[in-house]
Amino acid sequence: MDIASACLAGVKCRYDGDARPDARIVKLHKQGLVKLVCPECLAGLPAPRCPSEISGGDGADVLDGRARVRAEDGEDRTVEFLRGAQATLEIAKRCGAQRAYFKAKSPSCGCGRIYDGTFTGTMRSGDGVTTALLKRNGIEVIEV
Ligand code: SF4
Repeated sequence: MDIASACLAGVKCRYDGDARPDARIVKLHKQGLVKLVCPECLAGLPAPRCPSEISGGDGADVLDGRARVRAEDGEDRTVEFLRGAQATLEIAKRCGAQRAYFKAKSPSCGCGRIYDGTFTGTMRSGDGVTTALLKRNGIEVIEV
């Protein structure tokens, strides 16, 4: 079974305490074709929570220790984001997932473009932390 960002199926797990349901993912979930995951919740972070962005690089850089994840209030969230990525990978492996349908632009789930760490709405190229880890483990990530 493939996996999907829980917020895309209507789970209110986003930093703002809301969801971003996408009709395609809601349908896949209703059909029992995807397992829902929220890397940041798996890391033990609450919803709502202070938003975070990757500072000084992208998710691959965080995995390699070259960049950090910081919340808007200045707290370092790198450990939590790495923990959430690892927990998501373990679920994906248990499910035999070949694909992850992941929410665009998130510092965890983003694929190909993320916010640049300045909290100004500016985008940069790169993946979120969980996306980077899944890709390194051969799982295709599809941006939704
Ligand atoms: S971490 Fe991923 S699944 Fe969780 S709220 Fe953010 S985008 Fe959605």
